[in-house]
Amino acid sequence: MTMIADNLQSVRTRVQAACRACGRDPAEVALLAVSKTFGPEAVRAAHAAGQTAFGENYIQEAVDKMAALADLPLVWHCIGPIQSNKTRLVAEHFDWAHTVDRLKIAQRLSEQLPAHRAPLQVCLQVNIDGGPTKSGVAPSDALTLAREVAQLPNLVLRGLMTIPEPAPNFATALAVHRQARALFDQLCAAGLALDTLSMGMTADLEAAVHAGSTMVRVGTAIFGGRAHAAAPG
Ligand SMILES: *Cc1c(COP(=O)(O)O)cnc(C)c1O
Repeated sequence: MTMIADNLQSVRTRVQAACRACGRDPAEVALLAVSKTFGPEAVRAAHAAGQTAFGENYIQEAVDKMAALADLPLVWHCIGPIQSNKTRLVAEHFDWAHTVDRLKIAQRLSEQLPAHRAPLQVCLQVNIDGGPTKSGVAPSDALTLAREVAQLPNLVLRGLMTIPEPAPNFATALAVHRQARALFDQLCAAGLALDTLSMGMTADLEAAVHAGSTMVRVGTAIFGGRAHAAAPG
């Protein structure tokens, strides 16, 4: 499992280099380790190497993993699609949900948060490049949804999350990520107190950092290739 420690160090170095190249402070960019499809031992190895924030796509898989890792002080982020029948599990087990894209899902998460739990930290997933079959609120509807979600008692609206289509090169990736950053800045200017822009994965984290991401979600570069491709949201 020292491979995971080495990989984590390489990813941190990539993030730092990307920050240096565009004059940002590396402390502004959090690293979320995406552990979907990998077992508890891989998460344990990453934690031993200093990683505490983990992202999971498949809710039941994640809940099982959390039970096996209950002895560790980890922060769990839901980054997969959330159907109505899964909101309770998310509210009961996760610390963050990045993939809220409808008011109904946000309302259920708020209502179902157990009394003993801290508020759920939420990002709105935005369909930034308009993929017709993709999850995510349309950019033009993001401000309205953000204002509604910000009113819910048991949620803290932290920001936006995007999963753009894979881009053929840096310039294309940068252009899409910049649209997300512009929308984020627009919501902040409209009075929403947001501090998180969750964008950038193994293939495009440099472009995301250049555009102003504050949280990159990295799986493959830390844990290795996944046996079966995970469906993106
Ligand atoms: C799988 C996944 C990631 C990580 O992707 P990699 O290319 O393996 O770094 C990030 N975000 C979401 C939403 C994912 O589904």
